[in-house]
Amino acid sequence: MKIWDPLHECMPREDLEQLQLERLQFTLNRVYKNVMHYRKKFNELGIIPEDFQSLADLKKLPFTTKEDLGIDYPYGFFAVPLREVVRIHSSSGISTKPIVVGYTRNDVRMWSNLVARIMTAAGVTRDDLVQIAFRYGLFTGAFGLHYGAETIGASVIPTSTGNTERQIMIMQDYKTTVLVCTPSYALILADRIKELGIDPKSLSLKTGLFGGEPWSEAMRSTIESGLCPTATDNYGLSEVIGPGVAGECLCKDGMHIFEDAFIPEIIDPATGEALPPGSTGELVLTSLTKEAFPMIRYRTRDITSLDYGSCKCGRTMVRMKKTQGRTDDMIIVKGVNVYPSQVDEILFSIQQEHAPYQMTLTRKGALDILEIRIEVTSKIFSLVMKSQRAFVEQVKKRVKSVIGIDIDVSLVEPGSLRRQEGNIVKVVDQRQE
Ligand SMILES: [Zn+2]
Repeated sequence: MKIWDPLHECMPREDLEQLQLERLQFTLNRVYKNVMHYRKKFNELGIIPEDFQSLADLKKLPFTTKEDLGIDYPYGFFAVPLREVVRIHSSSGISTKPIVVGYTRNDVRMWSNLVARIMTAAGVTRDDLVQIAFRYGLFTGAFGLHYGAETIGASVIPTSTGNTERQIMIMQDYKTTVLVCTPSYALILADRIKELGIDPKSLSLKTGLFGGEPWSEAMRSTIESGLCPTATDNYGLSEVIGPGVAGECLCKDGMHIFEDAFIPEIIDPATGEALPPGSTGELVLTSLTKEAFPMIRYRTRDITSLDYGSCKCGRTMVRMKKTQGRTDDMIIVKGVNVYPSQVDEILFSIQQEHAPYQMTLTRKGALDILEIRIEVTSKIFSLVMKSQRAFVEQVKKRVKSVIGIDIDVSLVEPGSLRRQEGNIVKVVDQRQE
């Protein structure tokens, strides 16, 4: 397995931490001098960049949120004059105005190299033909992957999005070996290929990088059997750089975060407290090399956990789990953070199907009560009464062991759960009502 930048990707942790500290000091100086928002925050706290002598000091700084980035639209967070900016992208913001991000020439070079790392990790080489079916535009996905593939020396086919049959024709005729798109679009392509009676094995595809949205292991196996023999995940967000923050190697056991460029932290989204290694919580990222748009302790709102254990591929960079949802969906029950995605996963692991369910929260005295109501699907209905009871018990037990709380579970009539525009309302919180 080839590694694009072994010097950095396989760096011993001690050396890595030294490099991180040097780069953090550089970044803090840059934002203190050039970004009003950060200078104000530093001044409020009575600290200057020189006070930062260890990586642990990072925790002294406040978080940066999406709300903050809306301040001084459009260029308030730029740390260089516009004449040094060679590229502008944007991402959706809190208000109607987007968040505008910029890159210097060095930033584009660094970004391209980070994406070259995730592509190499996914098995891409200069001999590959890379079809990029991300929408080209202000969104960072297409250009990020495009520049990364060119950096490797692969041949880029920038098909952009849409026109599924044309995508398939190009895939067949140009002999595309690498596919880049969202996982949900990969499923659409797999379906269409099936409908057209094309054998996926007749395509030249060998690997794919699917990102831009969270996806499950179940989706991975569908994509691998119906379209592309190897499907890898990668992670990034425009506010931090775009794609290239993290990517899976061929072990497919978590995405390596490039820690020479970003410091990851996991916090409790409710309290902001740092969580011990291995815990599931909100990912916070600090950029270390960016010139135009440095980012200090950015709250990504993505839920994941970090694994500092060694990986068979030889990279020393920490691995983040597939994202497990957004903090916006989180509920707190008996002081424990619960995400609908955890319940999804538990139900799927027991039943091998996505059973429709709803979480109802009530309060008895000071006690929170969480009830999961599951609509009886044909699969559950086919179980005899005794097995239905066993199923309910199994859900309770699994929730207790995975999430750590006692819950009630009940089976309800198909179609009886409250729906909004056809979708079941996942969480009904009656504690305030
Ligand atoms: Zn690895």
